[in-house]
Amino acid sequence: MTFRPKPLSLSLFTILFVMLFLILLFTLGNLTYREFEQLDNKFRIANEHSAAAEIESALSEAISQTREKTRQLAAWEEVGQQLNNPTFYSYWYQYRAKNIEYVSVYTLDVAIYDLHGNMLAPMDTSILPRKIDTDGIGHYIQVNNFEPLIVVIIPMKESNSGKKLGYLATLSNLFPVLKGFSHFNHINRNSIRVTIDEIDMISSQSLLEYIDYRLTSDPYAQAIKPVVKQSLLQLAGTALILTLLIFPLAAWLVNRPILQISQQIDQLQSSPRTAVKQQTVKPLFIKELDKIQTSLYAYHNRLNQANSYLDQKTQELDDIVQHDPLTGVMNRRAFDSYWREVTDVFKHSADEICLILFDINHFKALNDTYGHHTGDEVLIAVAQTLKHILHSRDQLFRLSGDEFATILMGIPSRKAMQIAKQCHLAVINYPFDKLGINEPVRISIGVADIKAEKGENINALHWQADIAIHFAKRPGYSSIIRFKPELAENARGLFSNRTHTAVYEAVTRGTGLVMHYQPIVDLENGKPQYYEALVRIVHDGQLIMPSHIFPLVEARSLDLDLDFHVIEKAISDLREGRIPVNTGVSINISAPAIVEHELLQQLAAFKPFMADYKLLIEITETALITQLQTARKNLEILRNMGFSIALDDFGSGYSSLRYLGAMPVDVVKFDITLTRLVDDRADNLILNHLAKMISESGHLLVAEGIESAQIAEQLAKLGFRYGQGYYFGRPARAIEKTGSSKDSINYSA
Ligand code: C2E
Ligand code: MG
Ligand code: MG
Repeated sequence: MTFRPKPLSLSLFTILFVMLFLILLFTLGNLTYREFEQLDNKFRIANEHSAAAEIESALSEAISQTREKTRQLAAWEEVGQQLNNPTFYSYWYQYRAKNIEYVSVYTLDVAIYDLHGNMLAPMDTSILPRKIDTDGIGHYIQVNNFEPLIVVIIPMKESNSGKKLGYLATLSNLFPVLKGFSHFNHINRNSIRVTIDEIDMISSQSLLEYIDYRLTSDPYAQAIKPVVKQSLLQLAGTALILTLLIFPLAAWLVNRPILQISQQIDQLQSSPRTAVKQQTVKPLFIKELDKIQTSLYAYHNRLNQANSYLDQKTQELDDIVQHDPLTGVMNRRAFDSYWREVTDVFKHSADEICLILFDINHFKALNDTYGHHTGDEVLIAVAQTLKHILHSRDQLFRLSGDEFATILMGIPSRKAMQIAKQCHLAVINYPFDKLGINEPVRISIGVADIKAEKGENINALHWQADIAIHFAKRPGYSSIIRFKPELAENARGLFSNRTHTAVYEAVTRGTGLVMHYQPIVDLENGKPQYYEALVRIVHDGQLIMPSHIFPLVEARSLDLDLDFHVIEKAISDLREGRIPVNTGVSINISAPAIVEHELLQQLAAFKPFMADYKLLIEITETALITQLQTARKNLEILRNMGFSIALDDFGSGYSSLRYLGAMPVDVVKFDITLTRLVDDRADNLILNHLAKMISESGHLLVAEGIESAQIAEQLAKLGFRYGQGYYFGRPARAIEKTGSSKDSINYSA
């Protein structure tokens, strides 16, 4: 068993799809946001580098501005005057020094020093050192209470001589200058601060280490960030609405028409023969599904038309298949199916059922004498006459060649016999002379009836009617016979209910049919030359012999059917290698079949085996008596095909010699009744002459029914080339693989 996944509903698919879509959306949004954060970080790191460069340049510019201011102050003549005459230094320091324009508002203190670095006059308010180190001229930075201050010291020189006079020092606040710059792009100027509260004399480079600040945000990043955030949110919102509303809505929209279509299909199934009018069909909203619906209805209507057409054709075909084209009455196939119906009805009713068989007497002779065309007209006339007499509801069937049948239901046997008599009389009264027939045409009728309430088996009717007609055809009996149990006893068990069905099945279908083989040996050396194929039917583990098979075959004219199956079985035995190569196979052909053209076609199937086997066809005299011309023609054809022809059972019938001369026969098989004469001296003489005469006319002789070595020996002496009988081997399914069956016999003695 193959695994078949359970189908899921459209709604479940929608839920799964929605969930999957939301997960996808969330992951995508998250990824985009992270990407953006990383980009922002990259910008920030780049800004930090620019900010460091920015603060460094701002600091050095603030320092150079302060130095420039100090230099301008140093160039002021009053500073020089103080060095030349420091008497009023205190006054100058107090009222002039800090108010002059050269001194910036951020300059906290100014001091003048002599050549030794001593302040010209020590001031209590001065925050500059009283003494400076004259070696460290230039500037240095100090931090006081988290404020960076710069001390700039400049040497003072005489303008003419260049002689050093002393030093000027200023102390200024650095941050106001620094923060005053407007070109800070990356640094928030208000955030600039020093992280240490007090330190003395450090370089500007060292100060940078203590400066802390906040970066101004990147304006682009700042501008983009909310836009991105908003876009992402909008996208997520839209997707959410789409997912939660539109998808389920779409699924619902598709689901409904699909359900509608499925219901419509169910409806069409329950009433497949009703055509659908396109105008009455409700349109669907979805174009593709609407197309499916339209196509479905169109297809249904086409199918409907095809069905009606098929019904009509089936009816016509049924008529053709069920009717006999020649007489127009129902055929054997129709009979069989009608019989099955009757059997069913019989199970549930108490009605009487009667089977009547009709057979035209000596029909073959009529055919031979007046020709096929007249034969056909006789069949048509008989069929029409019988049909006319039978009640219109009772069908007439042509079972085979000249055999007809009817089944009467719910009619007492007395009435059935009356109908049979009417039929018989009607045929007697028919003007067959109009067809050019100068002799009376008669029919034989067999009647068998049964009553359901007696609990009898309906299938018994067949063999009972067969027995009845078998006797009706015999001389000395009435032409209309109703079956009685005594008749069955008279038939010496040739028909029995047990075998009847088995024989019928075997002959018509080949079931249970097997071939046994009996050797035909060379009387000189006892070596098998041919194996005669003899038919048997295996039934219930027992064999049904030809003596039980042929009465039914003959009564029902099933000769051709039987021969076909015999040929088929013999060929399959050859194919299976059951018969030793380089010997021969002898096939018996029923008397009536030899004139049939179909038989020749069937026998042609032996051709592929002709290289390894001799093939012999055995026919009886009876065959030759009825249709001489056709029989001769067919035998010639068979000979040309490579078959040899044997006349079987020679001496058992009459006027054998006449046919022997006229027929293309290669082998003559002496019947057992002749073979048995060999013991009698007088008969032996006749046999001797007969054998001599026939073998001298070019025929090969076979003696049948040899049961002892003595008979075999005598027959060999009488000129018989081949022999067959229980002495050499009984008919058997398996052939003994010995080269010679009776090596011990010395025929020449
Ligand atoms: P047949 O063709 O003359 O076959 C010979 C019959 O004599 C066979 O009987 C065989 O068993 C029997 N037989 C052979 N040797 C002896 C013997 O030593 N003593 C005695 N008493 N009988 C012997 P079987 O098989 O019962 O066949 C009877 C007849 O049935 C055949 O006579 C043949 O005419 C017919 N038949 C048998 N098989 C077929 C067949 O396949 N097709 C047709 N159309 N007819 C067949
Ligand atoms: Mg034979
Ligand atoms: Mg024979």
